[in-house]
Amino acid sequence: TLSATKSPLTIKLCAPRGFCAGVDRAIQIVELAIERFGPPVYVRHEIVHNKYVVEELRRKGAVFVEELDEIPVTEKPVVFSAHGVPKSVPAAASARDMFFLDATCPLVSKVHREAEIHFRRNRHIILIGHAGHPEVIGTMGQLPVGAVTLVETEADAETVTPPEGKELAWITQTTLSVEDTRAVVAVLTRRFPGIHAPHKDDICYATTNRQEAVSQIAPDVEAMIVVGAPNSSNSQRLREVAERAGCAHAVLIQRADEINWERLAGIRTVGITAGASAPEVLVEEVIDAFAERFDITVETVRTADETIAFNLPRELRQPAAE
Ligand code: SF4
Repeated sequence: TLSATKSPLTIKLCAPRGFCAGVDRAIQIVELAIERFGPPVYVRHEIVHNKYVVEELRRKGAVFVEELDEIPVTEKPVVFSAHGVPKSVPAAASARDMFFLDATCPLVSKVHREAEIHFRRNRHIILIGHAGHPEVIGTMGQLPVGAVTLVETEADAETVTPPEGKELAWITQTTLSVEDTRAVVAVLTRRFPGIHAPHKDDICYATTNRQEAVSQIAPDVEAMIVVGAPNSSNSQRLREVAERAGCAHAVLIQRADEINWERLAGIRTVGITAGASAPEVLVEEVIDAFAERFDITVETVRTADETIAFNLPRELRQPAAE
């Protein structure tokens, strides 16, 4: 039979992987809004960075826009994405009398509040993050221009020149590399010994746990498949973590059809994980694709348990008016 010709392959499945509580909540907000208010429900920016998720929601009646001015005058709600938005966005929505639902992850909002507290205490803020990422735009946009300086790398941290005569504080994007961030923070604390810091950092539990699982598995596998989108920061970091932990071939793919099978010929072990915005059905698709070509054994390697869940916005918690 054909299966007799398949070579054995052990798949080490990272756990935790995939959806975090913030992504889960954001998707639920869009789905419930469509149920409650009927389509179309507008969503500003990809609700989470995953094409599959976006397409599924579009099919159900979500309409994705980049900016509010693309939305016609309507009673229908607009949902702000999990990454958070600058203060100017809800302000513009209110000015237009729009009905908005905020799907910003509570762990991103927490960083927004931290930034505001530092600002109120007259501190200049250094944000560690990736330029252009919507979360960074949202966090910087909590405060007036000039209140926050973005630092992306250790080299940036070495040369950043914050305004003189002001206390400093650092905060971070939630989806950074734990290791890189530690290095950037070390430079900042050396150069600015009095700098105020969060308790640990602002990297969220989901990012930390997914990176931990990958770094544990990566040295034992010949390849690591990260299911996630190229614009997903936490997914990109998972690929890097795998590579640094000693996995020779770590790739980020959106769907099973992107797998380069020639490159994987002859392997005996592969690791699979998924970014916080990648649905489990895509992981299953990848496992099925391996099963078609190899005689697979799937082994889950769990490095943390996750029980965290977030409340929905008040407008969606109340029962619908009959
Ligand atoms: Fe929230 Fe972290 Fe998920 Fe981002 S990755 S949505 S911060 S839980």
